[in-house]
Amino acid sequence: MKPLLELSNVAASYGASQALFDVSLAVGQGEVVALMGRNGMGKTTTVKVICRMLLHKSGDITFDDNDIGGLPSHKAARLGIGLVPEGRRCFANLSVYENLIAAARAGEWDFERVCVLFPRLKERRTQLAVSLSGGEQQMLAIGRALMTNPRLLILDEATEGLAPVIRQEIWAAVLQLKRDTGLAILAIDKSLKELGQVADKAVILEKGRSVWSGPFAAMSSEQTDRYLGV
Ligand code: ATP
Repeated sequence: MKPLLELSNVAASYGASQALFDVSLAVGQGEVVALMGRNGMGKTTTVKVICRMLLHKSGDITFDDNDIGGLPSHKAARLGIGLVPEGRRCFANLSVYENLIAAARAGEWDFERVCVLFPRLKERRTQLAVSLSGGEQQMLAIGRALMTNPRLLILDEATEGLAPVIRQEIWAAVLQLKRDTGLAILAIDKSLKELGQVADKAVILEKGRSVWSGPFAAMSSEQTDRYLGV
């Protein structure tokens, strides 16, 4: 079966500065893939290219068998790619409920269902996003992405800067998404241990190139030492 998302030999630049040289990766239906690599290796840039926030220079990008390499970002979102961006961006001066409703598109995910995954959002429904804790804002950012009823969810550093207990709560929700829905997930995170709880596969980036990919459990200590510095 063809993967839901496939990047083949993708290169991309910020003006004259090339950030991606040769990135290939695939995410199958219902699969959780960890996108890994040290700081500055090109993970967020890869996400921007997938979401069409940055146009690539060469290579192929397909989503659900469609070539999406020429699409603008609003059309890519409509295809079913839900992004939880680095820095958990929500509308600060809208309430939790308004933030979720503003992102809504028809499908199985609605306010009630998001609140089953994250009950705290129901408790805080009238509170402004700006007044939420970091963990609650992250839950809201994930909830907003789910409200778009995506087929692929991209989590860019979803637990960065959060307390361990909240990180665990978020990973438990991701695991629940994996078990209970057929959602494909591409996850970026610095914690190998936490990613290991949910990821089926891993792709490692080094200086804008995908240098290793395979089952998450098959990553050797040689690879993690060499490419992730752990
Ligand atoms: P981190 O873990 O620190 O978020 P990353 O693996 O996500 O790192 P990217 O943010 O994709 O890495 O950066 C890849 C390269 O592109 C780096 O050399 C970075 O300095 C460069 N870069 C990122 N954003 C820009 C930008 N807006 N303009 C110019 N260069 C950029």
